[in-house]
Amino acid sequence: MSSTQQDQRQAGAKERVNDFDALIVGAGFSGLYALHKLRDEMGLSARVLEAGDGIGGTWYWNRYPGARSDTSSWIYCYSFSEELRQEWQWSERYPQQNEVLSYLEYVADKFDLNRDIQLRTRVTEATFDEETERWEVRTETGDVVTARFLIAALGALSASNVPDIPGIENFAGDWYHTAEWPHEGVDFTGKRVGVIGTGATGTQVATELAEQADHLTVFQRTPNYALPLGNHPLDTEDRRRYKENYEEIWEWVRHNFSGHDYDLIGKNLQEATPEERERAFQERYDRGGFGLWLGNYDDLLENREANDIVSEWVREKIQERIDDPVTAEKLTPRDHAFGTKRVPLEAGYYEIFNRDNVKLVDVKKAPILEITETGLRTQDGDYELDVLVFATGFDAMTGPFERIDIRGRGGELLCDKWAEGPRTYLGLMSAGYPNLFTITGPQSPSVLTNIPVAIEQHVDWVSGAIQYMLDNGLSVVEPTRDAEDEWVEHSQEVAYATLFPQSATWYMGANIPGKPQVFLPYLGGLGPYRQKCDEVAANDYEGFAFANQKETNA
Ligand code: NAP
Repeated sequence: MSSTQQDQRQAGAKERVNDFDALIVGAGFSGLYALHKLRDEMGLSARVLEAGDGIGGTWYWNRYPGARSDTSSWIYCYSFSEELRQEWQWSERYPQQNEVLSYLEYVADKFDLNRDIQLRTRVTEATFDEETERWEVRTETGDVVTARFLIAALGALSASNVPDIPGIENFAGDWYHTAEWPHEGVDFTGKRVGVIGTGATGTQVATELAEQADHLTVFQRTPNYALPLGNHPLDTEDRRRYKENYEEIWEWVRHNFSGHDYDLIGKNLQEATPEERERAFQERYDRGGFGLWLGNYDDLLENREANDIVSEWVREKIQERIDDPVTAEKLTPRDHAFGTKRVPLEAGYYEIFNRDNVKLVDVKKAPILEITETGLRTQDGDYELDVLVFATGFDAMTGPFERIDIRGRGGELLCDKWAEGPRTYLGLMSAGYPNLFTITGPQSPSVLTNIPVAIEQHVDWVSGAIQYMLDNGLSVVEPTRDAEDEWVEHSQEVAYATLFPQSATWYMGANIPGKPQVFLPYLGGLGPYRQKCDEVAANDYEGFAFANQKETNA
C-alpha cells in the first residue's frame, strides 16, 4: 500500500464515527422509534445497526403470500406524532405486509432516520467494558462500535425456527422459511407445494397457496382455534371516524389489558345465561378479529369449565365449515384450551380443505421422518413436492438474544445466565448487564399485546430512565438481584394462575427442543404493567442500582 493510500485510509477511519451515546440494534418498529426519541427528542448521538438491507424488521422479512397484520391498522402504528397519525391513510382494517412496510419507510423518511441507520450489519457480539463503562459491539462485517447505552430492539419473533428434519440437503426442490422470504417472490404456478405449520403464519400462507399452487399439502401437528379476520377496506368516513377519535382510542389501548381495541365483558361466564353467552360469542365471531379471545368473559383463560364452553363453541364453528367429516375432525383442536395458544385469524382458511387440490396431513399421528429428494416422508407415506414452505415459527423472545454473544460484568454470557429461563426486572433489564435495555423483551407484556403500543411504552420508559441518569450525573444502571428475583417469580406466578402454561406453546418455549419451559411474556396486562413501570420511575427507579459518573467520564 502506498503512503498516500495509507494516509487516506487513516483519514477515513478517523472520519468514521464509531462511538455513540446510544446504539440501537434493529430497525423495526422499536428501533425506529428509539432512534427518533433518543436522537431527536433527547439530543443524544445514536446509531441503529440493522442486519437486513432495508428497514422494517418483521415487515421487512415476512414477505410470504398472505402476510398481513391482524391488529386494526389505526392502532397498529405509532401514536407519538399527531401529524403522522393524521397524514397516513390506511387502506384496510388489517393491512398487508407491503402496506405496513411502506408505512415504516414513510416514518423513516419523515423523521430523517435513514442517515443514522447502518443496514446489512448483523451484530454478533456485545461486551460491557467495566473500565470504560461502555458497550463494545462487534458486527459480522468487522465493525467495532462503542456506546454508553445499548438498546436491544431485536424483535420478539425474529429468530426463525427451521426444525431439524433430516435430509433437507437432499431435497431437489426449493424450500423457504416464511420469515426469510425472497424479495422477488416465488412463482407457485403448476407446483406441488407443502406447507409445514398451521400457526398464524401457516394459516395465512396456506390460504393464499391453495389458490396459487397446482396442489397444496398442509402438514399439521396441532390444529388451532382460528377465528375469522373480518377484514374490510376503509373508506373516507371510516378514516375520518378514527382520526377524529385518535386521542380517545389511544388512551384506551395504552391503559387496557392487551393494547388492542377490545375490553373484557366485565363479568364471568357463569354469570351469563346460555342465551346471553350465545349472543356474546356470535357477535364477536361475526365482527371478526380477536374479540372472542381478548374481549370476552373475564374468566375464560383462568377457569377450565368456562373455557370448555367457549372451546366447544369454536370447535363447532370450525366443523360447520368443512365438508369432509374426517378432515373436519383433524382440524378440530382437542388437546388444548381455547386462547392458551396464539389464536390465528383467517379469511377462508377452513374452506381451502374443501378444494380438490388441497390435502391435510396429520403429522402428530404420523410424524415427519425425513425430507427426501422428491418431498417429505412421514410415518404413513411419501408426499411428492416441488416446493416446501416452513411456516414453523420462531425461537421466540429469548432466541434473538442467544444469537448474539452478549457479555456483561465479569464476562458472563447472557444466554448462560438465562440457561434456565430469562431473568429480568420488568422485562427491561437484566442484572449484571448495565445500560442494556430490551424493548418488548421476555417478561414484559410484549407478544401478548398489540406490539406497537407496548413498544412506545418501553421506549418512553427507557428514554425517561436515561434522562434521569443524565440529569443526575449517573453513569450506569442495572436492576438489583432482589428486584429481578421478585419480578421473575411474580411473572411466573401470574402466568400459572391461568390456563396458559398447561398448553405446549411458544409462549412456554415448548416449540424449540431443549428450551427451558418457562412462560416467556408477562401476563399481568399492559395497563397494570405500565402503571408498575411508572411507579418504579416515580419512586426514583426503585429496584434499580445506579453508579455515579466517574471523573474521567464527567
Ligand atoms: P407458530 O405459531 O410457532 O407456528 C408454527 C407452526 O409450525 C405450528 O403449527 C407448529 O406446530 C408447527 N411446527 C413447528 N415445528 C414443527 C415440526 N418439527 N413438525 C411439524 N410442525 C411443526 O409460528 P407462526 O405461525 O409463525 O406464528 C408465530 C407468531 O408470529 C404468532 O403467534 C404471532 O404472534 C406472530 N404472527 C403474527 C401475524 C400477524 O399479525 N398477522 C402473522 C403471523 C405471525 P405445533 O403447534 O404443534 O407446535
